[in-house]
Amino acid sequence: MASREGRRNQHRLVPLAALINREMKNKKLEKPTLRFGCAAQAKKGEDYYLIRTDCERIPGNPSSAFSVFAVFDGHNGNAAAIFTRENLLNHVVGAMPCGIGRDDWLQALPRALVAGFVKTDKEFQRRGETSGTTATFVIIDGWTVTVASVGDSRCVLDTQGDAVANLTVDHRLEDNVEERERVTASGGEVGRLSICGGAEIGPLRCWPGGLCLSRSIGDTDVGEFIVPVPHVKQVKLSNVGGRLIIASDGIWDALSSNAAAKACRDLPAELAARQVVKEALQTRGLRDDTTCIVVDMIPPDNLVMPSTPPKKQNRLRALLCRIKSKGSGNKLSKKLSAVNIVEELFEEGSAMLAERLGADSSMKQSTSGLFICAVCQVDLIPSEGISVHAGSIFSTSSKPWQGPFLCVDCRNKKDAMEGKRTSGVRAV
Ligand SMILES: [Zn+2]
Repeated sequence: MASREGRRNQHRLVPLAALINREMKNKKLEKPTLRFGCAAQAKKGEDYYLIRTDCERIPGNPSSAFSVFAVFDGHNGNAAAIFTRENLLNHVVGAMPCGIGRDDWLQALPRALVAGFVKTDKEFQRRGETSGTTATFVIIDGWTVTVASVGDSRCVLDTQGDAVANLTVDHRLEDNVEERERVTASGGEVGRLSICGGAEIGPLRCWPGGLCLSRSIGDTDVGEFIVPVPHVKQVKLSNVGGRLIIASDGIWDALSSNAAAKACRDLPAELAARQVVKEALQTRGLRDDTTCIVVDMIPPDNLVMPSTPPKKQNRLRALLCRIKSKGSGNKLSKKLSAVNIVEELFEEGSAMLAERLGADSSMKQSTSGLFICAVCQVDLIPSEGISVHAGSIFSTSSKPWQGPFLCVDCRNKKDAMEGKRTSGVRAV
């Protein structure tokens, strides 16, 4: 009796295994096909970009592949842009916990991106060079797109159903009131250049330094309140697909997000990137470095993207739509969720490291069992680590004994960024 039961189970197990296998194959097939193109016109030679389609979540396992697309728009020289292109990806990957599944990996990305950006900035500043760069850094894993950005390069999502939305926030003093307030509160002065006679010209800038941006990587000679902490947004596209346009301000000074998307809608990615650059140059001439990457996320069984998403899918997405973002001031978030074809997973733009590095529940530990710095990943001896929350003792929410922990150097950097002390790494 028992053995017959066992045999029956065995029979059942075979088709079940086959079924799971089939499911897994389907899942693999459901990943989008990426088609991409890039076009650039140089004026100063300070724009750089990165395209990597061969990254692996689990090294040596091609089924864990993810892709990276990034634009770096340098200023006051190209060193910061080159350094960031060479190091940022490694620093982000280095801040990811090991041995976790895909869902946990995607969830850990926003924090690793913050750590990677700050570490890259710290390392570059240590070289004592004065150039700086924007960084708009896009990671695509399956249908999930994670964008981290400082500066005014932009990543735009066109879902082809007439919905165009920015996945980045422009960190430009001229148009970002919140950032203006943050810079002023941290000890910076915001104002325009004044020429003889007292007339003010040009965009709002931050002093000392005279930078128009409120966040960047590098810029050793400006105030530490110009921070490298990125705005991070994570969305999941429906399997209808979509198009990303990642570009430097050479494009955005000439074209709105909408105009750029519309200018290239019917073209494949390779031609689309060229068309957007051409359109920008026609509007404004070549007045700045102009770089554009177009990435199409295409359903694998449908290599031509439909112009409107199917309605049934919309209703399903409306039910699934889940917004974790803090604050409600984001018009574009509302626009995105209004069309209900994009699931918003995460959005955070605070410049405060304590808020961005969060609780230590999934904190990465060193192999020696010691704690490591949440930013630069160096081992900490227990007496050295300072909680990211320390220093806010009077706050009821303060948890000075809890991680994540920072090394002395990163703690100094954090305080300097928040206007609490002058920088320890600034080159004079
Ligand atoms: Zn550190």
